[in-house]
Amino acid sequence: MLRSSPSRRCRLCGSAQSDRMARRIRTVQGSLRSPPTRREFIAASAAGLPLAACAGALPDDPSGPTTADFDAAAARPVLDVSQLDTPLIIDSIRLLERDGEQFVHVRSKDGAEGVSLTNGRRYLRPILQELVIPFFLGKDARMLESDLLFELYRHRSNYKLQGLALWSAQAWVEFALLDMLGRACGKSIGDLLGGTLRDEIDFYVASGRRDSTPEEEVEYLQSLVDETGAKAVKFRLGGRMSRNLDASPGRSESLIPLARKALGDEIDLHGDANSSYDPEYALPIGRLLEDVGAVYFEEPCPFDHLEDTKVVADSLALPVSGGEQEYSERRFRWMIANRGVDIVQPDLHYYGGMIRSARVANMAELARMPTTVHISGGFGFVYMLHFASRTKDIGRYQEYKRNIERYADWFDPALSIRDGKLAVPTGPGVGIRDIAAAIRGAREVA
Ligand SMILES: [Mg+2]
Repeated sequence: MLRSSPSRRCRLCGSAQSDRMARRIRTVQGSLRSPPTRREFIAASAAGLPLAACAGALPDDPSGPTTADFDAAAARPVLDVSQLDTPLIIDSIRLLERDGEQFVHVRSKDGAEGVSLTNGRRYLRPILQELVIPFFLGKDARMLESDLLFELYRHRSNYKLQGLALWSAQAWVEFALLDMLGRACGKSIGDLLGGTLRDEIDFYVASGRRDSTPEEEVEYLQSLVDETGAKAVKFRLGGRMSRNLDASPGRSESLIPLARKALGDEIDLHGDANSSYDPEYALPIGRLLEDVGAVYFEEPCPFDHLEDTKVVADSLALPVSGGEQEYSERRFRWMIANRGVDIVQPDLHYYGGMIRSARVANMAELARMPTTVHISGGFGFVYMLHFASRTKDIGRYQEYKRNIERYADWFDPALSIRDGKLAVPTGPGVGIRDIAAAIRGAREVA
């Protein structure tokens, strides 16, 4: 016999919970609705309640958007190829390599072309070459959003590979096709995807280090600010997926106040725990970030522990961000609808490209939540610039990991930084002036 859930508020708790526990859970849920104080949180934790699971089962705010509203927002088309009135049939897709850089080059039957740069990950070549490229050949590139992406997901049961492995390979081809479509329309990718709203993007420069002492780290952060002219930085906290261990004892607790002291009040700070903590460890770190006025606290808890992340987001006034590893639109929907984070961060490569990421941004917009994409790959900041140029609420700063000089002259005008902002490329497609010159000397990878 089918049985209804034991409690709509706490479906994961099981029907055998005592009344006393149910009362405690209601107390915890009430406090999570209006974020609990640290004291309330710790008291509830000490009671041994499955806080996170219960919090995750909270029903949506009845006055807020419904699941259907979020699905409708996600499905709102973003790609405008209405000016192309004849098919643009994909004739070839080639993987090229030069000096450790990988390119995906597409060409249509009538000679239109586009190019993308990958985020490395050479081990994904078989997925690209066996499961992704063959699907696209002979298809009309104009159907990218309306048909091709979903059909690629079904093709040869690709959905079983959903995650970075499939989505990165999909993104490489999508970026190249958007470049080709943009060139065919005479539009930048931002204009192709709804229209550019801004031509400069504020950025933070990210430190990727954990091997530093707090003193060495702030020195390094200062050098990044000096090099790039950034007005904001991001540093790493915790030990990365470390089950509450720090990279070295006491590093995170010392680094946060020292960064504020050393960099001064003019530089905005971001902290990224890369999934290091359970909530009881994340909260004190979050409080330190609040004390220094940080912009956000990224991935405080294991990335797929949506409920624990929500506990931290509910408990801090500081925005919590996450989504860099997320691969599922419906899980993003949960995070947005239930305020599991305050800022969503799909990675443009790991999440399968601009169109999938725009679907997340559409849902986030409905919940008045910023979308600040995560970037991967040396060239990834260029895709970030296009995405940020067309997305309504991108938060305060976008990620930048240096090395603009490697690509600057491929663009006209050259890529540039001014006053802590990156200029959005203005040429058609991704904005590379001369594809043949950019890929000259690259060899095809069979
Ligand atoms: Mg991160």
